[in-house]
Amino acid sequence: MYYEEYIEKTLKAGEIVNRILKELPRIVKPGVKVLDICEKIENLIIEGGGKPAFPCNISINNIAAHYTAFPGDKSIIPDNAVVKVDIGAHVDGYIVDAATTISFNSKYDDMVEANRMALKNALKVIKPGVKVSKISKEIERTIIGFGYKPISNLTGHMLKRYILHGGKNIPNVYGEYPWIMEEGEIYAIEPFATDGVGSVTEMQQAYIYSLAKVHSGRTKLEKELLKYIYDNFKILPFCERWLKNFYVNHETIGAIINRLVENGALHSYPVLREIKNGIVTQFETTIIVSRDGPIITTEI
Ligand code: MN
Ligand code: MN
Repeated sequence: MYYEEYIEKTLKAGEIVNRILKELPRIVKPGVKVLDICEKIENLIIEGGGKPAFPCNISINNIAAHYTAFPGDKSIIPDNAVVKVDIGAHVDGYIVDAATTISFNSKYDDMVEANRMALKNALKVIKPGVKVSKISKEIERTIIGFGYKPISNLTGHMLKRYILHGGKNIPNVYGEYPWIMEEGEIYAIEPFATDGVGSVTEMQQAYIYSLAKVHSGRTKLEKELLKYIYDNFKILPFCERWLKNFYVNHETIGAIINRLVENGALHSYPVLREIKNGIVTQFETTIIVSRDGPIITTEI
């Protein structure tokens, strides 16, 4: 009973995300504001009957991940951009995490194809009992075969109810890893390819946060904000845009968030860029490990 219910809810989250992925060519275009895209996608998740599992990530060119619009963000999709759109939806805590690359520069068509193939090849070897290192090897082999580099310090990850990083990782480069996939587990597989060196670094800016498992506030306002965050997002990632119904103004919220990050009550997720500013692509889907192979929740 429980088994079927969690598969059903994960598949429902997958349908919501898949419908949005198909609409992206109409939503993501040069000249459109990143803020409008993030809000549009997050609203579509809610209209579809789910909730966002994390803020919509729109990562452009050499930015690999973790960019989401901040309140009042004026940035737009530039001409000739390579845009990663990473979407998370959950139904009752059961998460689907999926991403695609939309390129407006034909120079990178080959890299996009390499990345898409890497994900498809990775899925082919998934079954109960498979070593994670075998999946990593498929990803690395495919991307290198096209003459690009996989990003070595970004990984796929296990998903659990209301938990985005569930303990086991799926690296994008080969190694002797301790992890084995078991039947019934849920994973996000997410190869990234680049024409840079194959590694990302943290930038100064961070727009995404999550509640630390152990957290406490010192002031009344801090305590109330932490409660608001837990009540609305549990320990899933969130952003400042999502706090607009909390009763204090933007400047005050920003200051409280910074204090809570400093004292460890909140984690922050700095924007990640390729170390040598290489262009980055990404494809991601969420799968359930079954005896008949992976149950794939979104189209690639
Ligand atoms: Mn993702
Ligand atoms: Mn992911």
